[in-house]
Amino acid sequence: MHVLKFGGTSVGTPQNIRRVAEIVKQIERSGHKQIVVVSAFAGITDLLQQITQVAPARDTACQLILDKIEKRHQDAINALIPDAAAEAWNEITPFLIQLKEAVRGAYLLRECSPRIHDLILSFGERLSATVIAVYFKHNGMAACFRDTTEFLISDDRFGGARVDMARSMAGIKTAFSGEASIFVTTGFIASTGDGRVTTFGRGGSDYSAAVLAAAVDAPEVKIWTDVNGVMSANPAIVKRARSLSAMTYQEAMELSHFGAGVLYPPTIQPAMEKNIPIRILNTFNPDFEGTVINRSGSGSSNNATGITAIPDIALLTIEGSGMIGVPGIAARLFGFLAAADVNVILITQASSEHSICVALHPADVSVARKAIENGFRHEIRAREMERVRVQKGLCVLAVVGQNMRHVPGIAARLFQALGQKGINVYAIAQGSSELNVSVVLNKKHINQALNAVHEAFIHASAKTPVFLLGVGGVGSALLAQIDALGTDAPIVVCGIANSRRMWIEHKGIDLTDWQRALDKKGKKMNSAVFLSAMPAGAVLVDCTANAVVTDLYEKALAAGISVATANKIAFAQSGDRYQVLHRLAVESGASLGYEATVGAGLPVIATLKMLRRCGDVVDRVEAVLSGSLGYIFSTLTPGKKFSAIVRRAGDLGYTEPDPRVDLGGADVARKILIIARECGVSAEWSDIERDDFLPQSCRDAADLDAFFIALEQADGYFEGLAQKSAARGRKLCYAAEFNPEYIRAGLKEVEPGHPFYDLSPGENMLIIHSRNYTDTPMVIRGMGAGTAVTASAVLNDILQSKGVVNRL
Ligand code: ADP
Ligand code: ASP
Ligand code: MG
Repeated sequence: MHVLKFGGTSVGTPQNIRRVAEIVKQIERSGHKQIVVVSAFAGITDLLQQITQVAPARDTACQLILDKIEKRHQDAINALIPDAAAEAWNEITPFLIQLKEAVRGAYLLRECSPRIHDLILSFGERLSATVIAVYFKHNGMAACFRDTTEFLISDDRFGGARVDMARSMAGIKTAFSGEASIFVTTGFIASTGDGRVTTFGRGGSDYSAAVLAAAVDAPEVKIWTDVNGVMSANPAIVKRARSLSAMTYQEAMELSHFGAGVLYPPTIQPAMEKNIPIRILNTFNPDFEGTVINRSGSGSSNNATGITAIPDIALLTIEGSGMIGVPGIAARLFGFLAAADVNVILITQASSEHSICVALHPADVSVARKAIENGFRHEIRAREMERVRVQKGLCVLAVVGQNMRHVPGIAARLFQALGQKGINVYAIAQGSSELNVSVVLNKKHINQALNAVHEAFIHASAKTPVFLLGVGGVGSALLAQIDALGTDAPIVVCGIANSRRMWIEHKGIDLTDWQRALDKKGKKMNSAVFLSAMPAGAVLVDCTANAVVTDLYEKALAAGISVATANKIAFAQSGDRYQVLHRLAVESGASLGYEATVGAGLPVIATLKMLRRCGDVVDRVEAVLSGSLGYIFSTLTPGKKFSAIVRRAGDLGYTEPDPRVDLGGADVARKILIIARECGVSAEWSDIERDDFLPQSCRDAADLDAFFIALEQADGYFEGLAQKSAARGRKLCYAAEFNPEYIRAGLKEVEPGHPFYDLSPGENMLIIHSRNYTDTPMVIRGMGAGTAVTASAVLNDILQSKGVVNRL
């Protein structure tokens, strides 16, 4: 029996429920029975919680909330099962009536006891599971509904009940036997032996799944949620958080207790007892392998597994000279707190024994303070102890990891990361297991602290994942160059795609055999899926010449993913887009590298950025920017066929896949536009004066084949051009210029002595005139085309990306 659990967001809209059905169907096809535990639709438990507050206050908002809940379910039914809406409505009506009765009870009595509270909250799951079961049935699946309040028996700790396994076993066995292959089951709820409904605490559906998995000896508990598994920090706060492939039960326990909201902490116990792995999966990215929580964990050498925080705590301090050297103070303190039913999050005592601090949930402060001051009243009266000091507005940040054990320097790294940001530490705790180091901070620093500590522990030691789009000449050369960096390289290729297929492997792709594997293991290319597989801090590499691919840049940068590209298109479109891309990169802390877009591997962009950064002003650049046109025109001497030269340039990888982009001058025009922009000029494409030297017949050609036919017919025309300039002792070259008056690209004749005259085939040259380089300009010269040099510029951008640089 498989056990799956889908959280509130996963079942939050009809569209999401359809995704869930696809996942469940796939398991059904493999012939396995399954228990599908579901949460209430996203937001419904919050609304029910509100009712428990407004009903006893006789607030009229009560009815509005009930109407809202009813409408959400009605809308879901209408969208999912329009043909069986009446049947579904009949199924949920008894629950809606019971809910209204319970609310009416609280309203009339002007109170909502813990028991009524749990009863009211239970309807979120009962309604969602009913709707989903009916939808599954009408979607050709052998599904039925199971209400756990009918067979899961718990204690009577309302709001935080725990299942009595021994008493529940028989009921569970009966509930999940029978014809159906899919049992759609309510998460979060059970009932006491005498029929009172209980809940397990917010987020408790995870626990339901683990309990049921333990009862039926499932091979695994699959928790389907809305993120790529357990991540190294909450991705909502730490953009660069990365998915963790595995961790031990103990690590998961520490992480979830200390605020990793993705898993409800009590979930781990029932699974661990039976050694059942828990796998956290993403409903919105079902191809992601998930995070597995088991006995052995990841085996990674990374010191810290994750960074978490409890966002709001209070610190209680007792101190006084009468505590020094007196045995039993701590025991009495914790005795008082336990008797008052107060949960202690963290404890510290300095070796001077002058004070003890405990961290608590703010709601427990007044009860705890009273209990302690009452317990120590004699010591306080005798002035051996001060009154309890309370500090509110604090948070706890915890660094968790199995591998921190016996590793020196962990605390130093933590304090350095916080100290560098000027964040004060109020208290510190580390258990002797060394699995968790916690610090108490002012809560206003929480986001900054999480990011800084994450950067210091997680980012600094893991490899940056690289996702490559385009595996033609440049892309293939790039993969070979990355492979040649060896296993110590700070990057790992986790995704490869061409226009047809994509292959994602979070553990890293074996680069010796990627081509065969892409064909064999690759799935149909879907750029949205490809992008969603990338964690923040990863690098998206674009080695295509495709405009559509560049649409991914904005989304990637906004998500903290760096971009390294050889594709000029995005940078030569509107000036607005150029600005937006740079702004997004700055805002998210990602990098934007496009050195390969001008001069292939030559350091053009980096040099112009360097000059500008230092306050120099570049006002004129003359350049030969096309490796392909450079090759073509320097090879074009009288007697050589122009069309044959163009074909040969293509074979050598000197031209764009479609040589018309080069021959029409568009490629050079894009480059000079990028150069002008790098020099701070806000130029547009329409500002470029472009000389198109191709005869009209070539420009009119409908496709590439027609173009080559037209080009062969134009061989005579080019022979004429070559002869004319040879007769004058000159050479043809395609040059570009940017200066205060114009930006231009076109064919020109150069005389002996001109810097462009001696350029060899494929060479690029930039002559840069600036305020600092006046009489003798700066010159950048070298091979300006070819797959290896272009790939190396891309590789350098990858290695310069923030994700990589931060860890070097
Ligand atoms: P569900 O409704 O599926 O149970 P939850 O909202 O309970 O989902 O848990 C998923 C959320 O947990 C994520 O959307 C994320 O914001 C949050 N979260 C907090 N810490 C982490 C972490 N370390 N890894 C992943 N998600 C985290
Ligand atoms: N619906 C409950 C909640 O929102 C339980 C759960 O989703 O796990 O807390
Ligand atoms: Mg949850």
